Amino acid sequence: MFAHLFEPALVNGPFGDPGLYADFRDERRALLVDLPDLAALPPRKLLRVSHVFVSHAHMDHFNGFDRLLRVVLGRKERVTLTGGPGFVAQVEHKLHAYTWNVVQRYEVALTLAVREVRPDGTGAQASFCSRTGFEREADGAFAAEGDVLHDEAVFRVRGRFVDHGVPCLAFAVEEKARVALGRDRIGAMGFGTGAWLRALKAAVLSGAPDDAPLDVRWRDRAGDHAATRTVGQLRPLVLAVGPGRRVGYVTDLRYTEANVDALAALLEGVDVLFVESVFLDADVDHATRKHHLTAGQAGAIARRIGAKSVVPFHFSPRYDGRGAEIVAEVEAAWGRTLGRFDSAR
Ligand SMILES: [Zn+2]
Ligand SMILES: [Zn+2]
Repeated sequence: MFAHLFEPALVNGPFGDPGLYADFRDERRALLVDLPDLAALPPRKLLRVSHVFVSHAHMDHFNGFDRLLRVVLGRKERVTLTGGPGFVAQVEHKLHAYTWNVVQRYEVALTLAVREVRPDGTGAQASFCSRTGFEREADGAFAAEGDVLHDEAVFRVRGRFVDHGVPCLAFAVEEKARVALGRDRIGAMGFGTGAWLRALKAAVLSGAPDDAPLDVRWRDRAGDHAATRTVGQLRPLVLAVGPGRRVGYVTDLRYTEANVDALAALLEGVDVLFVESVFLDADVDHATRKHHLTAGQAGAIARRIGAKSVVPFHFSPRYDGRGAEIVAEVEAAWGRTLGRFDSAR
């Protein structure tokens, strides 16, 4: 099993609202990039979302906030959201558009931790808890480490601004390394899969000593199970350690040298590039006016940064039924055909 830490997939089809769901399957956890119409995701998938990254607050990228909130409210303790300039206030305004006089009674209180980063490198954060009717609390500065917006033992999320008429964040979701586990060996030891596999991967990647204890917990039809083993005892589950997969999410920008340079700095050699391909090349003037890419420009970006796999999305509804033409223009400019991540055909 050389499984990746997470599997990325578009929330909607290429003509639908743009957004990415990165599923950390062994952990019952996920990340969302953008908050598009989320009707395609069942509640069990939304309940896994721990972190959300929003490129900018145009409606097609932010209207899913309401559905996410609706599903997690009363059932989940914490969600962290990160966005661009003004994002803390935008979330605050969303929350304050509702009446919350009974929400204090929910057994599980929800905290939304909200962060914003700005092109000048400054940032802000605040939190909003259902117990207080989502009053703004814990106001403070937020300092990203360079372009690293979120950092954990086994993966990180980086972001850089591109120009879309407004500042808009492009994201890189990066596995720090890929740890191959023998799934059959997990079963042979009598264990099931669970969040402990992440702890094991983190222990291996951080060079934990063999005698370090690790809690092995999993759930199956028979119920909850728990055991404790040392990292040394569990190390035979690790088949190999290799370079991690990097995933790029690029949407809502104009084709300018400055934008392409920013993307190259963020995504050089990226393994999978999700990239907006809004208009056909014939409509390039319209694309420029709307601060969007054409399919050929998307393909040119993929070629410039050396993307290994490309998934075009955010097609304009004006091309309904003509998705294959958009894909053909991306491929022609990229110089390759779309791979297994292609969901646009
Ligand atoms: Zn958009
Ligand atoms: Zn936009």
